Amino acid sequence: FETEMARLAQLNLVGEMAAGIAHEIRNPMTTIRGFLQLFRENDRNMQKEYIPIMLEELDRANEIITEYLSLAKNKQSHQQPDQINRIIEMLLPLIQAEAVMSGKHVQFQFVDCPVIHLDDKEMRQLILNMCMNGLEAMTIGGTLTIQTFQENGYVVLLISDEGTGIDEKHLEKLGRPFFTTKDEGTGLGLAICYSIAARHRASIEVQSSSEGTTFLIRFPIPE
Ligand code: ADP
Ligand code: MG
Repeated sequence: FETEMARLAQLNLVGEMAAGIAHEIRNPMTTIRGFLQLFRENDRNMQKEYIPIMLEELDRANEIITEYLSLAKNKQSHQQPDQINRIIEMLLPLIQAEAVMSGKHVQFQFVDCPVIHLDDKEMRQLILNMCMNGLEAMTIGGTLTIQTFQENGYVVLLISDEGTGIDEKHLEKLGRPFFTTKDEGTGLGLAICYSIAARHRASIEVQSSSEGTTFLIRFPIPE
């Protein structure tokens, strides 16, 4: 039953996104078409100025398509018994590098956790997306904390930042495809996280204040 629910949630999400993606891709196309038309009719000097914008628009469209595909492809989750700490340890250098570049810190606090059913690739994507959001939210530096622990039959992954927090009115929009408050955002990162969590029968809890945001992802421990 739960797998069926996860599948339905996934299908629903994909349908919702089809309309969104058309809209998101049409915007850059309209911009680029407008510039090309100007180029045809007008002087060359403009080209220097506008070509970088056109390239940016194309890159954005490309990024949206790539992220969309990673959601829409009816991928099978290949879950096997695994240690969540192992996956985090593998990713740490990458997250640390990303943090250091913008003057932030990362700390990982873990205890030995029971083995749970994990799709290695999906988990890496979930952890990375959430950590990137955390780092991006810390506009003036701070520490990103990643913790794992065991609680009431669940392995809990906690990702916490000292960033700007999430507006109360935005909380219910989290995970909705294309919801973003960033100029350069795709609004697909959390949608991907929620669908991966659903496939793992994991729940996601969000706690946020002006001091920062904490995501708690709870994975059931198999009997
Ligand atoms: P994107 O990062 O491209 O904007 P996401 O789906 O990853 O898209 O996130 C959607 C929105 O949720 C973000 O634009 C931001 O407003 C909010 N958000 C997500 N994580 C955090 C966080 N850790 N701190 C503050 N806001 C967050
Ligand atoms: Mg993001």
